[in-house]
Amino acid sequence: MQIFVPRENSPEIRVAVTPETVRKFTKLGLSVAIETGAGLHSFLSDNDYQSAGAQIVSAENRSQSLQTADILLHVLPLEIADIAQLKPHAWHISFFDAFRYPEALAQFQQQQTNVISLERIPRTSFAQKMDALSSQSNLAGYVSVLQGVAYLRKTLPMLVTAAGTLQPARVFVIGVGVAGLQAIATAKRLGARVEAFDTRPEVEEQVRSVGAKFMKIDLGCTESTQQGYAKALTDEQLQRQREAMIDICAHSDVVITTAKVFGRKAPQIIHQAMLAAMKPGSVVVDLAVEAGGNTEGLVPGKNITTDHGVHLLGEGYWERKVSASASQLFASNLCALIEHLWEPQTQQLRRDENDPILKDCWWLNDGQPRLQNRLKLLAS
Ligand code: NAD
Repeated sequence: MQIFVPRENSPEIRVAVTPETVRKFTKLGLSVAIETGAGLHSFLSDNDYQSAGAQIVSAENRSQSLQTADILLHVLPLEIADIAQLKPHAWHISFFDAFRYPEALAQFQQQQTNVISLERIPRTSFAQKMDALSSQSNLAGYVSVLQGVAYLRKTLPMLVTAAGTLQPARVFVIGVGVAGLQAIATAKRLGARVEAFDTRPEVEEQVRSVGAKFMKIDLGCTESTQQGYAKALTDEQLQRQREAMIDICAHSDVVITTAKVFGRKAPQIIHQAMLAAMKPGSVVVDLAVEAGGNTEGLVPGKNITTDHGVHLLGEGYWERKVSASASQLFASNLCALIEHLWEPQTQQLRRDENDPILKDCWWLNDGQPRLQNRLKLLAS
């Protein structure tokens, strides 16, 4: 079977395979072709890939490789014109939020393609090494602190000097999933005073274990789905949350928001009143921007400063700031997935509807939809 890795479209700069994973695929009996320059933003040259056993495909021969590949590996879904070239029964594996890209989904169906959506890999211990959402969120959490600090004109740790003592900066993290927990740990390592809040009370222990303080707000009943995702708050609960957070925002130097709700737009938590209470020069880093953002007035894709002097960072895709590390982890997740699905006897990928990984992430089976009903169940 032939794997093809086309170049990502700008602004994506991560790459789906590394020389190390090329070697692993080759050992399994798969051959790998990669478009020229695909790894450049991760400091991986064509020569590196070639030495690992990959064939380098020139831009002129890209179409031919799209038409003949059995497995397409990508970070983000291919463009419609590229999808239209795929052969029937080929596998397309990438992040793919099918609800957001209905035209791409229709084109995949028309091509009779198999589509695996990496966002839907189950969040189980068994699936951990294939969980690209977690590996990339983890890096985004790390980057969020560095980005916030780059805008903050203050030091993060307490510094005792002959000229006086600088107090530690205060960081407030809203939403303690994978990204939030890494943001807390990173800010703590850099010496900040860190507080955090999440609607799932079970994360209090994790917050404490990395040395931060968990903020308690009485919101009444808050629920999680069977998969461990937070359920949406009611409008009244959200309003109560905002009111309770005004003071803590007012004394925080950096607020990092990561709050998401499975299958829905992100809740808008930071309202104008909270921004108005914040000190000029303080920073909000919104990690939920790709899901609609947690902050009122945020401009997706941009970093702006309010009239009042608060920086709102909404650039998004924060993990791209460490593209070499992000590519390394992403490629490793994909490789673990292929190793799981690979059947040496048939030299094909597994097509088992009941497979613990495939059952949740296999959107299209040779163009036939198979996930919609199950996703509705997961969200309930
Ligand atoms: P996510 O990106 O979906 O959401 C981020 C956080 O926002 C969550 O912790 C959520 O509770 C929180 N949130 C939602 N609404 C909020 C609000 N109004 N105020 C404050 N916080 C709010 O989360 P994720 O990082 O993808 O993790 C989702 C779940 O999956 C978690 O339970 C996590 O522990 C679990 N998980 C498990 C594994 C595993 O291997 N077992 C791996 C990764 C994640």
